[in-house]
Amino acid sequence: MTKSHEQPRTTTAEPDFARNYVGGWTEPNGETEEIINPATGEKLAQVRYSTADDVADAVRTAHDAFEGWRDTSPVERVQYIFRLKQELEDRQEEIARALSREHGKTVAEASGEIRRGIENVEVAAGMPNMLREGSGVVEGVAPEMDESAVRQPLGVFTAVVPFNFPAMIPLWFLPYAVATGNTFILKPSEKVPLSSQLIFEAVDAASFPEGVVNLVNGGADTVNALLTHDDVAGVSFVGSTPVAQYIYQTAAAEGKRVQAQGGAKNYAVVTGSAVLEETVPNIIGSVYGNAGQRCLANDVVVGVGDVYDDLRERLLDAVDDLVVGPGIDEETDVGPLITADSRERVLGMIEDAIDEGADLVVDGRDFEHPEFPEGNFLGPTLLEGVTTDMEIAQTEIFGPVLCLASAGDLDEAIAMVNSTEYGNASSLYTERGSEARQYRYEVDAGNIGINVGVCAPMGFFHFGGRKGSFFGDLHAQGEDAVNFYTDKTIEIERYYS
Ligand code: NAD
Repeated sequence: MTKSHEQPRTTTAEPDFARNYVGGWTEPNGETEEIINPATGEKLAQVRYSTADDVADAVRTAHDAFEGWRDTSPVERVQYIFRLKQELEDRQEEIARALSREHGKTVAEASGEIRRGIENVEVAAGMPNMLREGSGVVEGVAPEMDESAVRQPLGVFTAVVPFNFPAMIPLWFLPYAVATGNTFILKPSEKVPLSSQLIFEAVDAASFPEGVVNLVNGGADTVNALLTHDDVAGVSFVGSTPVAQYIYQTAAAEGKRVQAQGGAKNYAVVTGSAVLEETVPNIIGSVYGNAGQRCLANDVVVGVGDVYDDLRERLLDAVDDLVVGPGIDEETDVGPLITADSRERVLGMIEDAIDEGADLVVDGRDFEHPEFPEGNFLGPTLLEGVTTDMEIAQTEIFGPVLCLASAGDLDEAIAMVNSTEYGNASSLYTERGSEARQYRYEVDAGNIGINVGVCAPMGFFHFGGRKGSFFGDLHAQGEDAVNFYTDKTIEIERYYS
């Protein structure tokens, strides 16, 4: 199958205008929004949203491409995946800097994110082998009768993704969807559409057949047009819990496959056996990395028993060393929040926590960057005396705020961890295997870290939470992705001549 260039198209995205990619670069017809650099307050570019007609065009293009792509052997399909890996590798530096500019994260965080995204492309390159799992033949199930199961792709899949990992999260879905033989439409976050432009330059350079991999920009209306389109077979979603719930219910009611990853409220627990000199930098990275805007951030830290005082002092020292600034500056540890509204929301949470009785031990509320007063910066903040009945102990903060709490023993700490409506992740700091085992067994979360503060699974394992952090059954990445993007057909055969 070769790529046709019949449609009018440009060869590359203009960096100052985020466009769609539907069988090539196209311009959608909806309203235009400005993309603001969160560190400087300056306008970076514009994004134009997709109307229902633009979405219908994208679905038609992807639907038209499906038959030919399904007919393409998995061995040939993964050649495009290999090329995509190389094209992404070649653009790593450029994507990392674009990501830092539009999102605010440090260049080091952005580079790490891209690596984790590419890791999924690498895993999906093994698709011919992965497709064998769950397929197979059993001979002679009855006299002269054989029975087999084969995996088959389903059609057009879409992924609707959040702002906090604009390069990595699309790659939790895109390579698996297309390597299994489906066609794909990405809907990036309207807050950070520029990194996707560069990812799609890589897609374009990998020369996928026209219509196999597509991109539509937009907000809720664009998502709704995708969710309700008859020719969309399934939806992958990552974002906040209320939207995840909405996507799950709406897409399921439309008869589509759906996997919807929601928000989080993650706790870390530190016991007396933990190695504090390793534990503290690990916790600091988890809480303040990405300015706290990470679904795996442990924003509540519970010291168990006597370890509390030592832990507290060490955390205070470490917080003192953090440098706040634009992510593009090499010395920066904590970048800005994504929008001024996000900053206001987090400030409100801190105020409410103080009103509810928490002690503000490190106050980052008045931080102003000398060079960039318009940036959405918030200094690292630490609240002490946080208890599970406070709102801040139950609601995702998504900002550079650490809530310190204490527990008498591990049982009490685990009850605190399980008190929230979420179940994305949790970390335990210990050197005792029995404590680690109890934690894994009793904590109701999809991802557990033992002395690991950001327990993001490798691409060859699945990734997803529980409770209010996930709606669906098959998670992202690895074998779950293959199951999500394929159905298994049974064939029972016998012949009479
Ligand atoms: P969000 O829910 O506001 O937006 C996510 C996506 O949904 C965007 O593409 C957006 O355009 C779309 N959207 C927003 N409102 C919509 C609506 N009413 N109808 C249809 N579509 C809508 O999330 P966000 O602020 O971009 O991301 C932060 C959230 O994502 C946090 O809660 C974080 O925990 C979560 N997250 C979860 C994971 C995970 O693996 N569970 C990973 C990353 C982020």
